[in-house]
Amino acid sequence: MEQELLNYALIIMLGGLLSLGMSFYALFRLHAAPGGVYYCVATFLASMFGFSYLFELLSTTLKSTWFWLRAEYVFLPFIPACTLLMCCAYIGYRPKRWMYVVLFAIPLSTVVMQHTNELHHLYYTSLHLSTDTPFPVSRIEHGPYFYVHSFYLYFCLALGVVLLLNQARQVQLRFRLQIFTMVAGLLTPVIASLFYVSGQSMYGIDLGPVFISVSFIFHSIALFRYQMFDVAPIARDIVFESMADGVMVINENDVVVDYNRAMKELMLGVTMNLVGRAMTDILHNRPELYELVEVGQDCEYVGWYENVRYCYRIRFSPVLSKNNAQVGRIIHVSDMTEQANLQDQLQYLADTDGLTRLFNKTAFMHRANQELERIARRGGHLSMIMFDIDEFKQVNDTFGHEAGDMALLYLADTVHEYTDDYMLAGRYGGDEFMLCMPGSDVDAACELAEKLRGHIADGEISVESERLCITSSFGVTSVYVAPDEQEISIPLLIRQADQALYASKRSGRNRVQVYGELDGIVRAVDAQ
Ligand code: GH3
Ligand code: MG
Repeated sequence: MEQELLNYALIIMLGGLLSLGMSFYALFRLHAAPGGVYYCVATFLASMFGFSYLFELLSTTLKSTWFWLRAEYVFLPFIPACTLLMCCAYIGYRPKRWMYVVLFAIPLSTVVMQHTNELHHLYYTSLHLSTDTPFPVSRIEHGPYFYVHSFYLYFCLALGVVLLLNQARQVQLRFRLQIFTMVAGLLTPVIASLFYVSGQSMYGIDLGPVFISVSFIFHSIALFRYQMFDVAPIARDIVFESMADGVMVINENDVVVDYNRAMKELMLGVTMNLVGRAMTDILHNRPELYELVEVGQDCEYVGWYENVRYCYRIRFSPVLSKNNAQVGRIIHVSDMTEQANLQDQLQYLADTDGLTRLFNKTAFMHRANQELERIARRGGHLSMIMFDIDEFKQVNDTFGHEAGDMALLYLADTVHEYTDDYMLAGRYGGDEFMLCMPGSDVDAACELAEKLRGHIADGEISVESERLCITSSFGVTSVYVAPDEQEISIPLLIRQADQALYASKRSGRNRVQVYGELDGIVRAVDAQ
């Protein structure tokens, strides 16, 4: 046998053996890995194709050449489909059912067309053995269906490349190399075919089968060295990037090692790349945040950016080395702003009287208690005003309940108008209202009560075509709370204000009475 032919045969055989070896390896080690099954099948098909081509090359008669050419086409047409499906599985894309049908229908038709070529000559227009070479090599002229097969082959490879490059854009740098190795694997047969088509191959021997095996070497490199089918790091990367929570990894010197997209979004106003930068540098104008990172304790953080409130839950977890030494920390930030806003809304609804939008009784009592506790720490004045609409039942009876509601709203508006943010105003029940005035003495309380009384009495409420006038009565109580005072309580002050209000009603309504000033009346009330 010609030495040259022997060399070619040897190369092709080695290619086939290589593919077969990789196929067996995949069968035992990778069958459960995503894409592993397709890799296994594709390498097996490649090896069978290689061996068939080897026998075609060694054939000396047209009959045997034709036999082995047909054998090649049992395997070859399906390799692009398997390779493409391997790429899909690798990037985690699941093709639709119809895509599988199309992917396998075309190679199947190629097999049929090639095997029945003698009937239509659409695949090969002529086939004979060369006589001008030291050994017989098949000389083929291709028919139109061969180009369908070629187009399909390039289409599958190109699509595989596009899918992989698209994936490479989305993953982090460290995973890109393995994707590029995969791409190199897909491009190898293309280079081989360009070599063949341009007539560069010796005696017209197609080294395509060998290049296909080589392409699987690239895939194997990706497989062994970069763990091609180990989707865990890629999946972890995708999960990391698509998390709604912000995650940042810092080393023991508080230098940023990694962070995800959500973290970047949460770091409002920070546009620079943070990897490699120290936390002191990044948070130099947010010292309160830097302190939280330094302390490293799980906490809730409320901050403001462009007049909008942001609430974050910040958690820290250590990054430990294999020998359990801390080598860094993971900062985990959950955006709680929406929940906090919702909670505020619920709290507002729970604390507020539905009609007047003043505090309801429970909320008023709670906040008044807090104020008393606050004042009791240093000592100071605290005044309470209780007031109530005079003859309100009659208003309801004469003008109707809706008019009564308007009167209550008018009172609430008056309260809003005359009080400041330091005072607490609440609807105590029915037509009764309460004011708590931290830091105000009896004079200030009486002055306010008198202003409110006068405004209410002078005002008019329009009810349809009529004008409704109301008056109200006021009870005022005021105390000086000494530091560590134990005797005074909010219920006690409310009782006193109520008694003063009662005295006011008894002495003719539309007036302000101070608890303690009308001793006789108050005692009379007490006695009842
Ligand atoms: P007084 O001068 O002694 O206070 O006489 P009054 O008629 O105002 O008596 P009282 O304060 O006991 O009456 C409260 C009335 O307030 C009874 C109830 O029908 C009415 N009321 C309570 N809540 C509402 C409300 O939400 N809307 C309306 N329109 N009326 C209410
Ligand atoms: Mg009343």
